[in-house]
Amino acid sequence: MLRPKAQLTSVTQLTPQWLAERGLRAVLLDLDNTLIPYKTYGEPPKKVLEWLEALRETGIEVRLVSNALSGRVRYWSQKLGVPGYGPVGKPWFGYAGAIRDLELSPQEVAVVGDQVFTDILGGNLVGAYTVLVTPLSDRDLMYTRLVRKLEALVLGRKQGTYL
Ligand SMILES: [Mg+2]
Repeated sequence: MLRPKAQLTSVTQLTPQWLAERGLRAVLLDLDNTLIPYKTYGEPPKKVLEWLEALRETGIEVRLVSNALSGRVRYWSQKLGVPGYGPVGKPWFGYAGAIRDLELSPQEVAVVGDQVFTDILGGNLVGAYTVLVTPLSDRDLMYTRLVRKLEALVLGRKQGTYL
């Protein structure tokens, strides 16, 4: 339940081809430290915008599924042009509803995030294709720092080495 199906360094590695090869038709994205550094505002990176555009062009659905406060989710949803859900209460809530709205089966949906105990556990609980990415920022809550240590234990790797 805590193991991701795949591990990548960045969301932009989820190319239309990568997704198509695995029969994936939608991507449910975590926001903080997956797409955007934790707690930051501003302009989205050009690389991320280009990646989202490439997905849209190939008909792949993208949604934000975040535990961040609604104002932050709304801000980034508008900036990125991606519909968002949040705060949802991952790992227990959020993914099932988003998959239902997409009218897809869980196996056709990639759940992507930087945290094992929220994103990966939540995605595995609903039977989606889970992808763990390297967190963008180390500027994190103490809570998250502690969780990183537990994640490293679960994944059997040295803390800080994500691939
Ligand atoms: Mg995150």
